[in-house]
Amino acid sequence: MGLLTNRKTKENTIIIGCGRLGANLANTLSDKGRSVLIVDNDKGAFRKLSSSFGGIVVSGDATEIKVLKEAQIENAAAVVAVTNNDNTNIMVAQMAKELFNVQHVIARLYDPERECVYREFGIDTICPAVLSAKEIDKLLNISDIWEDSI
Ligand code: AMP
Repeated sequence: MGLLTNRKTKENTIIIGCGRLGANLANTLSDKGRSVLIVDNDKGAFRKLSSSFGGIVVSGDATEIKVLKEAQIENAAAVVAVTNNDNTNIMVAQMAKELFNVQHVIARLYDPERECVYREFGIDTICPAVLSAKEIDKLLNISDIWEDSI
């Protein structure tokens, strides 16, 4: 893995959770030449990163302040919390926003009912259930099954 550049210029993106979504995002941003650091508490998860990944990996529980400091969160322009646990994502997102003044904070939430609450805290949320429902609705609308039944 290459060294992260621009660590002092707040151009870095920190991804929390190197799962299916986190690893994919990390690989995509790295391929675009962005400075990426990814955190996971399971070292084996980093195997999902591509061989061309040029960012930094930090192993540890992202709900611990010492792990976030190790990831140099104070120098991050963006934090994306995509672990498989809504509470973890919310907690890390709030720490990033409130304690470390990170400008762009995004959290994945599985539970759509929590989405609006966190928007009020200035945390952008991505809810797979809501996004999927919208996409499925779009696909149903562009297909001609409804016309057949009229
Ligand atoms: P997935 O279910 O594929 O989206 O993967 C979620 C990832 O989040 C897994 O690799 C987990 O090890 C990781 N994860 C879960 N909790 C934490 C945590 N507290 N700190 C860092 N990574 C975590």
